[in-house]
Amino acid sequence: MMKGSTKSEEQSDTMIAMEENTTLDEKCPKCGNPLVMATTRTGRRLKRCSTNVWDKETRTSSGCDYIEWMKGTTEELEEDCPKCGSKLVMYTSAAGKKMKKCSTNVWNKETRSAEGCDYVQWL
Ligand SMILES: [Zn+2]
Ligand SMILES: [Zn+2]
Repeated sequence: MMKGSTKSEEQSDTMIAMEENTTLDEKCPKCGNPLVMATTRTGRRLKRCSTNVWDKETRTSSGCDYIEWMKGTTEELEEDCPKCGSKLVMYTSAAGKKMKKCSTNVWNKETRSAEGCDYVQWL
């Protein structure tokens, strides 16, 4: 006979409530234990330390607190920008959306604005 789930929804309001965890070949830079890839309910991906666990009793997390939010990745393409002729890059956002953008387009942290060619094509 199947037992009903006794898991409460207590965890669902914490940021540690993840949909999946995949152990990675990478080591935690803080403590040297393996990192796991986790996906939040909103689709954001992050790497966190496998020793990090949520303690329901004390409502705190214990273990190593290393977290690295995944940023988008860029890959060079063999395509030229229709606007300026530079190479295009494929950008995959942390949420998994893809777009092609011009490789000359960069984010300037000081002015907090994008510089270079503004060609973007969402896929
Ligand atoms: Zn760690
Ligand atoms: Zn361009």
